[in-house]
Amino acid sequence: MEKTLIILKPDAIQRTLVGEIIKRLERKGLKLIGIKMSRLDDTVLRAHYAHIVDKPFYKDIESFMQSAPVVIMAWEGYECVDSVRLLVGSTNPRIADAGTIRGDLASGNGRNLIHASDSKENGQTEVNRFFEPKDLFSYDRNDTPDVYSPEERK
Ligand code: ADP
Repeated sequence: MEKTLIILKPDAIQRTLVGEIIKRLERKGLKLIGIKMSRLDDTVLRAHYAHIVDKPFYKDIESFMQSAPVVIMAWEGYECVDSVRLLVGSTNPRIADAGTIRGDLASGNGRNLIHASDSKENGQTEVNRFFEPKDLFSYDRNDTPDVYSPEERK
């Protein structure tokens, strides 16, 4: 099954939105397979944000992402990378669609509450970056037949 990496950023912790965001992912039918809290060091942050390290706003993102612990999660589901990105909404929360996590709950540049992998390949790479295999869990959930068609749960 496809995997996606979610990071609940320091603003989600400070604004006590961790439960609200997890609730939205659970209600979608996605399966939580790994979860931990961590303080991100420079090295892991630079690897994770390699595509924005040269941007003028990176310094702000770096200090913001280290301003509190984050919650790091691995989620699993059929084509979950794309469906989670739709739940999350656009990078700029002021133009993110209403109904999305960022559109409903965030307002500031870089203070957009959540990271979600943006491709199937990055989902796998990012889950591997933050979780050892022993910290990822495989289990059956009773509601799977009510979440996915037989074709999708093969
Ligand atoms: P996303 O998180 O939506 O996948 P990116 O990977 O492009 O977006 O950027 C990573 C993070 O960098 C964003 O979530 C946001 O916190 C920050 N960021 C991106 N673009 C800007 C910007 N123009 N100004 C401030 N912060 C930004």
